[in-house]
Amino acid sequence: MYENIDRSDLHQFGFDGARFKKAGRGELHGPCLWCGGKDRMVISKGMYWCRQCNKGGSLAKLLKEPLSFEEMERLRTISLAKEKRERDRIDREKTAKLKILNRDKPWVQFHKNLMDKPDILQQLEKDGITMKAVEFFQLGYVPKFRYWADGVEGFSPGIVFPIKNGKGMHNLRIRLLNITEGDKYRPFMSDVGAGFFKADFPDEDWVVIVEGEKKAIVCWLNGIPAVGIQGCWTFKEEWLPWFKKRYKQVFIALDPDPGGVAGAKRLAEMLHAPLIVLEGKPDDLFVQGKLTTPQFVSILSKSIYLLKRR
Ligand SMILES: [Zn+2]
Repeated sequence: MYENIDRSDLHQFGFDGARFKKAGRGELHGPCLWCGGKDRMVISKGMYWCRQCNKGGSLAKLLKEPLSFEEMERLRTISLAKEKRERDRIDREKTAKLKILNRDKPWVQFHKNLMDKPDILQQLEKDGITMKAVEFFQLGYVPKFRYWADGVEGFSPGIVFPIKNGKGMHNLRIRLLNITEGDKYRPFMSDVGAGFFKADFPDEDWVVIVEGEKKAIVCWLNGIPAVGIQGCWTFKEEWLPWFKKRYKQVFIALDPDPGGVAGAKRLAEMLHAPLIVLEGKPDDLFVQGKLTTPQFVSILSKSIYLLKRR
């Protein structure tokens, strides 16, 4: 009984199913009713147990001997208060980190570094990123950036992409130059969360979402207003209202790799935006002369037609 339990079934045991996440091996992880550990409760194969307070047992038994309503409310209040304290602490840390970033302005030095690197500037130019973009977006260069890949420490030179938000700099993204496969981008500051890279035209009421800062810049240079995100799974629901308010029409042109397709579909549904599948990455297509601005605009406008017909 309750072997393959779904999140929506959890309420009958007193758990708040909406706050549970699917983990590997068919497990569900979420807040403990007893100690308030926010992801400590594991539910799997008809059993529940907390990795923090060790409370546990069979779901079938829990259903037969339910907690009283008062007991449940008491426990839930404790758990919510604990979670809120934890969230507030993380928010405070994030704010402090961003203050330091905006006070020290490390991107100024990184930008100077890049201006002293003709070979890197030349490479960027070949990749479609001209001096106009280097100056406009204050792109930079870091000679030795420490990063981890699969738990192993490494060092690499990197291109610095400043990520702005309304009030100041949100973070910097480092494009590692010695990595050719896997995730080439790293955040300059960890734990500040994802941000999006805005390369839009203030007068346009439409935008294309692309993967990564580099593509956003190349699109922008080719007259296409673009926003770069760091992979489709990083798009946050709290960004939705801003996108809806700012743009009349959003398009999604993410990388045509199998891993990205599922995430791209999710994003298309969230934004009610058409998904464009190009024959390659938009920046490469532009640089290789396989895509022109009018062609791209025409592909986009056809996609609206398809969206409306669906
Ligand atoms: Zn617990």
